[in-house]
Amino acid sequence: MAAAPTPPTPKRPGKPKPRRIRPTGDTPPPSPVRHYADFTAALLAWFQTGARDLPWRRTRDPYAIWVSEIMLQQTQVKTVIPYWERWMQHLPTPGALAAAAPETVHKLWEGLGYYSRGRRLQEGARVIQTEHGGVFPHDFAAILALPGVGRYTAGAIASIAFNQPRPILDGNVIRVLARHYGIAGNPRARAVNETLWSLAQDLVTTAATASAPPRAASAFNQALMELGALVCTPRQPQCPSCPVRAACVARRTNRVGELPATPPRPEATKRWFVAVIPEWAGRYLVRRRPEGGVNAGLWEFPNLEFTGAAATSTGADPVAAARAVLGPVPCAPTPLATVRHSITRYRITLTAHRAVVTDAVAAAALPGEWRTPAELAALSFPSAHRKLCDRLPHPARPTV
Ligand code: SF4
Repeated sequence: MAAAPTPPTPKRPGKPKPRRIRPTGDTPPPSPVRHYADFTAALLAWFQTGARDLPWRRTRDPYAIWVSEIMLQQTQVKTVIPYWERWMQHLPTPGALAAAAPETVHKLWEGLGYYSRGRRLQEGARVIQTEHGGVFPHDFAAILALPGVGRYTAGAIASIAFNQPRPILDGNVIRVLARHYGIAGNPRARAVNETLWSLAQDLVTTAATASAPPRAASAFNQALMELGALVCTPRQPQCPSCPVRAACVARRTNRVGELPATPPRPEATKRWFVAVIPEWAGRYLVRRRPEGGVNAGLWEFPNLEFTGAAATSTGADPVAAARAVLGPVPCAPTPLATVRHSITRYRITLTAHRAVVTDAVAAAALPGEWRTPAELAALSFPSAHRKLCDRLPHPARPTV
């Protein structure tokens, strides 16, 4: 009698099988077996003691976590903390945000930059009100459908707030995974990017299904980001104190400095602006930026962008600047300040002159709105123009 066939070993449901990661680029292939469980366990243990106490980590409120994730895009944690606290104090729920005046949203965002993020948050809050009855959606597809929410942000909210095993992949996570698993090639290139997403998925699934602390998917994704922010940093990573150093491919093969193989950023572009600030009867002339453009809805002083030699010559000549920016005005402008700031790849120099207008008819003919220092303080300006407010003879300091 033939022996009965051996039944196949049952698979543990939901647990990803360690698999070979396809090498990309021209570097040697990474070692074949990935010990996901070791990696996730080490990282979770480290996170329990090594994590920073950040205010949005003290809550599971998906709205609060959404706000923090949007604010943290391209912005450092220490900058975000006071903004997030102030926002949550003024607009603690999606309903409060949906009902807020756009000026309130602008004011609470003032100084954070990339102002469209604040506007998209409000659009999202209105979707939550109209389509989800004011309750933040739990369903991943519904989270992903919110305005301004991409794959990373949806994964962060779903995992951190709802403990769903959804992957995340931002700059910090890319760096940790590319180094630890020796993944070469441009991480923004489609094939490499999908390899990283797939790895992030396997890891968070492992964390959620292995015997691990409660809310392990939430803790694991935060641990991954935290390792990239505190230990596996872009420059001078702290490999000797890294909790996953033993299995790190980049460390073992001496390629920490090469990975991730992100292409160099394009060189910064310099731009020059000249502003002229008319002053009349203790008021200053401002105008609102048009809808649909950069910094839409924010206020600014009259200004123009100049290129080439005209930027330097006009910036240095208050009379030429006033003529160019305002047209002929009966005033004698004087230099006020030069401020510099960076936004995306632009390095901006803004030279400002103050023009005291004494003729009421001429003042009335200038396009814009006249505001007192106290009124300026209540308006929302892009950072460079807010700095100019501080340089006025009667500084207009925000009060919100
Ligand atoms: S050992 Fe170094 S390179 Fe590897 S994951 Fe840790 S900090 Fe990053």
